[in-house]
Amino acid sequence: MPFVDTWVAEELKNLKEAGLYNRIRTIGSPQGAWLQVDGRRVLNFCSNNYLGLANHPRLAQAAQAAMATHGIGPAAVRSIAGTMDLHMDLDRRMAAFKGVEAAVTFQSGFAANLAVIPALVGKEDVIFSDELNHASIIDGARLSGAAIVRYKHCDPASLAAVLTAERSKYRRALVVTDGVFSMDGDVAPLVEVYEAANKGEAMLMVDDAHGEGVLGKGGRGIVDHFGLHGKVDVEVGTFSKAFGVVGGVAAGGAQLVDWLRQRGRPFLFSSAMTVPDVAACLAAVDLLEGSTELVERLWSNTDLFKTEMKKLGFDTGRSVTPITPVMLGEARLAQDFSAALFEAGVFAMAITFPTVAKGAARIRVMISAAHSTDDLEQGLHIFSEVGRKLGVIG
Ligand code: PMP
Repeated sequence: MPFVDTWVAEELKNLKEAGLYNRIRTIGSPQGAWLQVDGRRVLNFCSNNYLGLANHPRLAQAAQAAMATHGIGPAAVRSIAGTMDLHMDLDRRMAAFKGVEAAVTFQSGFAANLAVIPALVGKEDVIFSDELNHASIIDGARLSGAAIVRYKHCDPASLAAVLTAERSKYRRALVVTDGVFSMDGDVAPLVEVYEAANKGEAMLMVDDAHGEGVLGKGGRGIVDHFGLHGKVDVEVGTFSKAFGVVGGVAAGGAQLVDWLRQRGRPFLFSSAMTVPDVAACLAAVDLLEGSTELVERLWSNTDLFKTEMKKLGFDTGRSVTPITPVMLGEARLAQDFSAALFEAGVFAMAITFPTVAKGAARIRVMISAAHSTDDLEQGLHIFSEVGRKLGVIG
């Protein structure tokens, strides 16, 4: 028996008994409002496809056209064997879209966080991190070797207090926060976070994975939303959500981006995004710059769904964005709720520990511009039926 089997079987059994085992469903259709999941047609409330771009014809055409001229793979790390003109175009277009001097792309948002944080701080430094920051920020922070000081979630007074207590012990300091928190859908109070960071002589980084294409003018993100241009040192983002593709980006000053090209390890030691990914992202930027219609539809769908969910008596937590948690508490109830929704034709996953705290299990509904009003009404109806059956609402 391989040595690993001596303990993994036991751990898997424990997860299953605690209702924490994640059964991953198989999707047999493109992303959209409706999906073919495990052989059934279901209403999709799971994806981060905020603007419906994951199967947009313009993105698909752009990917195909680029494959005809540039092939598929980059076949190398950008800094070693040269970087394609397409990747340089995307870097430039993202800088312009974000209203900053420069940007550089990575293979994913996760890779972007692993690149940026260790490039900014090291063993002599300190990171002040919101306690609910995304796993990729936590991992990037750990990799950097810097001291990590957590502050209370979305609490600038707590940040100011830990800055006062800890900042002077270290060389450089970095404050890092998610823009939109992916499990709760709340938004970092970035103006106050900036003021605290600035006063404490710390760099400021925001991970805007769920804010791009969602917040700000035409989806330009959280920095635009709060009018903080020029004040945030680095914005990290992803192409895997509103952009509908895959990849990551860091945007900021020209010198910072120059530095990331020299010292961002996933840039230096991992191959670039593929050609169709980059071309599709360029088409997504075209669409976002050309019209705000999709962003507006995303928000009107969000308003409709949340208002009606609250009227039904569901607790949608502290969300102010299209991420709509339906708070249930125990992991087992969340798993049962998700299974009952699926039976009734709605695909919405249970989120349980360790993704969220124990006792804070939930169903997370992701609203998209791809949903029609009819889709949302069907979803609401099924939520109300399942909620009554399981005793969550009266
Ligand atoms: N940051 C945040 C806040 C996220 O929610 C995610 C995706 N779950 C990422 C980073 C990672 O993005 P990607 O999927 O592009 O790796």
